[in-house]
Amino acid sequence: RHRVELHTDRSDELGDLANSITRLSNDLEHLKKYRNEFLASISHELRTPLTYIKGYADIISRDDASVEEKKEYIEIIREETEQLTVLVKSLFDLAKMDQNKFIIKRRNINFEPLIHTVTERIRPAFEEKCLILSVNCPSQIIAYVDPDRIQQVLLNILDNAKKHSSQGNRISVNISQNQYEIITIISDEGEGIPEEDLPYIFERLYRVEKSRSRRSGGTGLGLAIAKEIVESHGGNIEVKSKQGVGTSFMISLQRGDIVE
Ligand code: ADP
Repeated sequence: RHRVELHTDRSDELGDLANSITRLSNDLEHLKKYRNEFLASISHELRTPLTYIKGYADIISRDDASVEEKKEYIEIIREETEQLTVLVKSLFDLAKMDQNKFIIKRRNINFEPLIHTVTERIRPAFEEKCLILSVNCPSQIIAYVDPDRIQQVLLNILDNAKKHSSQGNRISVNISQNQYEIITIISDEGEGIPEEDLPYIFERLYRVEKSRSRRSGGTGLGLAIAKEIVESHGGNIEVKSKQGVGTSFMISLQRGDIVE
């Protein structure tokens, strides 16, 4: 009787093992498929600006283009080169994150000067588009973060807010804190995000309305990187949006102690 029981146990174990192997190989298949899709999208993203750059360089080198036209084409080449630079930098950041080599150096810092630096950096671009920026950050807030990385996140979200707002719209940055966290809310009154796209906007290379977003300099990687950075701080990032009304991002980060 004992032997039969043993036999049953062993076959259960073997069954479990077989199931685990099947699950693992399914996961591997998914990973391979994901990697192939990602590589295909990346190749496309790299090829598109290169095609523009080559095309316009060819036109410029012909003699029949006017000086005005040449200036315009050089500007396009400059923009496409900028796009490529951002894309390559973002890919580099993501590759480092995937290998756990993206270093986050956390320390206790005053949050108000950090917010000030970020908003002053973005202000000229906001003024150029006649957007109203309102900032509300209490003093004496101490965060335990890597200031450079958090600046990168906030700049990215503010840049998105700028891209998707129209002249005269307000963009507000509100900071508050509770016992454990510092909460940053960045809201805009821009075009908003369609409900069906909302669950995916933090995914790599996901863009709402592909071509329009590409023309405005988007790579579809900004929010994926922002999420990775916030989560590697042990924080959280969420979005709420309504088409035609606006979008708001909420980031929570760990409170700090005494400034070092
Ligand atoms: P991108 O580089 O294309 O901006 P992101 O990862 O930063 O990529 O954003 C993903 C998508 O989310 C964008 O294509 C954009 O359509 C949408 N999005 C992000 N922020 C906003 C916003 N404030 N208002 C409207 N749409 C937004």
